[in-house]
Amino acid sequence: MGKNSERRRQLVLLPCPFQGHINSMLQLGTILHSQGFSITIVHTKFNSPNPSTHPNFNFLPIPDGLSDNDISSGDTVTILWEINVNCKSHFHECLSQMMMARQGPHDDVACIIYDEFMYFSEAVANSLKLPSIILTTMSAATFLARSALLRLMAEGRVPFQDSMSQDPVPELHPLRYKDLPIPMSGKYDTFLKLVFEAYKIRTSSAIIWNTMDCLEPSLLAQIQQQFQVPMLPLGPMHKLGPASGSSLWKEDTSCMAWLGKQSKHSVIYVSLGSIASMDEKQLAELAWGLASSQHPFLWVVRPGSIRGSEWIEALPKDFKENIEEKGCIVKWAPQKEVLAHGAVGGFLTHCGWNSTLESIFEGIPMICRPCFGDQRVNARYVSHVWKVGLELENEMERGEIERAVRKVMAEKEGEALRERAKNLKENIELCIKEGGSSYNSLNRLVEMIMS
Ligand code: UDP
Repeated sequence: MGKNSERRRQLVLLPCPFQGHINSMLQLGTILHSQGFSITIVHTKFNSPNPSTHPNFNFLPIPDGLSDNDISSGDTVTILWEINVNCKSHFHECLSQMMMARQGPHDDVACIIYDEFMYFSEAVANSLKLPSIILTTMSAATFLARSALLRLMAEGRVPFQDSMSQDPVPELHPLRYKDLPIPMSGKYDTFLKLVFEAYKIRTSSAIIWNTMDCLEPSLLAQIQQQFQVPMLPLGPMHKLGPASGSSLWKEDTSCMAWLGKQSKHSVIYVSLGSIASMDEKQLAELAWGLASSQHPFLWVVRPGSIRGSEWIEALPKDFKENIEEKGCIVKWAPQKEVLAHGAVGGFLTHCGWNSTLESIFEGIPMICRPCFGDQRVNARYVSHVWKVGLELENEMERGEIERAVRKVMAEKEGEALRERAKNLKENIELCIKEGGSSYNSLNRLVEMIMS
């Protein structure tokens, strides 16, 4: 498919304002822009993307009505709920103005594509008689597990007792109760209301997925059976449409020079993504686990991610002296470049879906330390279905971390993980090539929008 300048019809994209979701939506925008569409990103003021990194897109902010308390609470469930309550009328007004300002047929809004958690968009699209499509930025496995949560809740099985955490969840093999995608705050009621609304597929014409047919074939087929509309897996979207600079934090690129001094596959990269946090005790356990493994490490510690600290001042005093040149700690890394660097041999990750896909695409085996939500489902699939990683079973324990790093980086089990990760990478590369499943889904999407 080549660029078609005659096709330059407008698409309005509505990302959910969290890093992983913003990345996927901007990547989708890049993919569709390269197919000849013009792209308008309508976004909340909270966590607004930086327009200067995407000069080809229009950016339109809408008020989100979030209070300072909502934002500082870091409670993602409440924030999403509030956004859905507050943004509907602002989005309606914004779109109406866009439509009134149209100067010719090329300015028509051809379609609205919204993140599944920005479900207020669908009613707005309907009221303006515009077609809409959903983007789900999670795995198919998470989608099914979230849907099952509604059933399990109705059956009184969640919230579950600690004693059940290792039990298998009926009809959700290989998930255990502890792998269910429950929210960080434990606010089940609001979370389930949110999931219920997000998963009510009403009049949208299709669902776009940041996953691949070769990775989750039976799960996607299962979902397709439940819904009338086409399922369009376009993953990995960071490869189909690499979006330049969608980071909410400034990337510290100095770590690339440090990586350049390390030998092949020797470095363990450590990051828990854009939302997860830990306390000072967990920080110390992770620090000593890494140090005792004797492997060089590149560690992202996001400012504010250690509860009660600004950054890494809570690191044990003797830790820095102890590691010398063996470790590099940054506030935010150019993660995709890091994972593609030959010196990186393993990824200790929280298993956010973007990080999981980015690691899988580079053939890097993982040590999974999920914190909440979909991360638990992804970690279980990484370790027990795709078998390209190990999962840490304890909260954060230095001995377990040390053993896992050694296993993945230097032992036979790690070699087997790396071999499977390499095979998976090769299969995924085929998905995005001409004739591959993601490539074909993209053709289908473009045809749908044009028709
Ligand atoms: N990321 C990054 N630099 C970092 C850490 C993370 O660019 O230092 C990016 C990462 O590449 C991924 C996103 O932030 O695309 C995190 O999304 P993910 O779904 O993995 O986790 P979340 O942040 O939503 O928990």
